[in-house]
Amino acid sequence: MRIILMGPPGSGKGTQASRVEERYGFPVISTGNLIRREVQEGSELGKKARNSMNAGRLVNDQVVLEILKKRIFSTDCKKGYVLDGFPRNMNQAKKLEEIHPGHKEVVLGLHVSDETVVQLLGARRICPKDGSVYNLYTSSPLKDRKCDICGEELVQRKDDKPQVVRERLKVYHEKIETLINYYKNKGIYYKINGEKDIKDVSKDIFSVLDKELSKIKKFEMTS
Ligand SMILES: [Zn+2]
Repeated sequence: MRIILMGPPGSGKGTQASRVEERYGFPVISTGNLIRREVQEGSELGKKARNSMNAGRLVNDQVVLEILKKRIFSTDCKKGYVLDGFPRNMNQAKKLEEIHPGHKEVVLGLHVSDETVVQLLGARRICPKDGSVYNLYTSSPLKDRKCDICGEELVQRKDDKPQVVRERLKVYHEKIETLINYYKNKGIYYKINGEKDIKDVSKDIFSVLDKELSKIKKFEMTS
């Protein structure tokens, strides 16, 4: 089973992805991490990816797909895997289907209002020295605005400033709407309310996945 997890930045997508991995043993695949690793290893694909990145462009779909394919065909992905941050456009979605035609797909869309995202990301602070991440609401530093580890004054990333976040969200919505409609029409899209507590969001996700997995089992038993 291929699980596609979608959600705006700050929606807690990463957290939910690892909870799915914990419960079902399906590894989380983040294309961002995969690309970084290829670049570090200096593989052919990594070199191609780095060229685009150096030129300030997005890594092209073909290269991302090749990198992804390598990972998906590993043995630990046989029963299922979770895609975090992929696909991001229709071309990628179609290409993904070609990798495993007929593969069971479940798309989980975390819905969080723009205002919530602006608030959450707006409360994020990082330590410029060691990169520790804090959130003034959910995981605030012990001492006012200072890093727990090294005492450095915490800063806000430019990307997390409200205006920039709103701009990022606009771009996100424009791209993702088409994708959501595509998956809705295929009947595999599940809208998840991401405004709830982390635990309750997980519960909703698990109940969708449990149901879908039991369908696969029934099919295996009768065929
Ligand atoms: Zn620090």
